[in-house]
Amino acid sequence: MPTSDQAELTVDLAALAANYKTMQKNAGRAETSAVVKADGYGLGMAHIAPALSKAGCSTFWVAQLNEGITLRALLPQAVIYVLNGVPQGTADQFAAHNLRPCLISRAQIEAWQSHCRANESLPACLFVDSGFNRLGFGEIDIAELMATPDIFDGWELCLIASHLACADDPKNPMNAAQLERFRNALAVLPDAPASLANSGGTMLGPDYHFDMIRTGTMLYGCSATGREEGALQPIASLRAPLLQMRHLSAGDTIGYGATFTAAGEMTIGIASLGYGDGLSRHFGNQSPSPMRFTIAGQPVSLVGRVSMDSLAVDLTHLAQMPQTGDMLEIFGHDNPIDRLAHQGNTISYELLTSLGNRYNRLYK
Ligand SMILES: *Cc1c(COP(=O)(O)O)cnc(C)c1O
Repeated sequence: MPTSDQAELTVDLAALAANYKTMQKNAGRAETSAVVKADGYGLGMAHIAPALSKAGCSTFWVAQLNEGITLRALLPQAVIYVLNGVPQGTADQFAAHNLRPCLISRAQIEAWQSHCRANESLPACLFVDSGFNRLGFGEIDIAELMATPDIFDGWELCLIASHLACADDPKNPMNAAQLERFRNALAVLPDAPASLANSGGTMLGPDYHFDMIRTGTMLYGCSATGREEGALQPIASLRAPLLQMRHLSAGDTIGYGATFTAAGEMTIGIASLGYGDGLSRHFGNQSPSPMRFTIAGQPVSLVGRVSMDSLAVDLTHLAQMPQTGDMLEIFGHDNPIDRLAHQGNTISYELLTSLGNRYNRLYK
């Protein structure tokens, strides 16, 4: 009998700390800051952020104001940047929680400036768009800013940052093009520390490091470039117990839509994890190469559609038949998350941030 019908997400905080040290080495003289948006890439910011702080990290990034407020309660001393900027009317909340917005428009600078003038001078980051075309000041916007240099009065420009579009692909000429545009922006803007590289950007070399790197995915043990990232350790493992084994004959079908038909005798196992737990329904029935998980290190294929609460794997070929309660590893030591992401035509970032709330979460 299974001891639990709950899937289990294990997060290894010692491995996280080791990955932080590895990224410090990769970053050379630049400060290694940590990106913990989307609840620490789905792994639980409440555990991730304090562990990183203990490992020596003092600067953190989130996407939204609300995430910043939550993080501030966890880390009273840390420097916290909020990537989305300062929405209209929220400057006082940023100030109250000691958060630094990434200012992305002239209106945001003006709002920050007027808040500071009425209270006290406060630090903020200026976010430059060097070609990603997501958020921040492009070349023309910067020229317009510099036409009114007093826009920088009354508040503290503590960092100038930008983001790379193709850092996962070191050969992409976009990287060098963005580096040049970022340098051009720094040359005309007031003097301030600078930050360009995410995890992948850090691996592009010292030209990309400036004063601070911002690393997310590599801290979480995921690859940033699709290449061997050496000393990184996996920090997350996801396992689901088998609820039942079934024997099928030729012609029997599996699951919703009866999309899989057994060609002959087969044995399947039903595991307690489905799209309600963040494992995409699209992962089912990928032919010719089905998604593969592992049981006790042995590969098993996903068969049929993923249900909300369960999925089926083919056990037919296994020399030793598993028992109910045995664990199917979705990703972890035996089945690296990057490999699973690749099989599912997605990226580790998406697998992690899709994880649901239903897991038994173990932090060690
Ligand atoms: C998410 C994000 C990062 C972290 O990127 P990784 O590839 O996970 O290292 C860094 N900078 C910005 C602006 C981001 O949005």
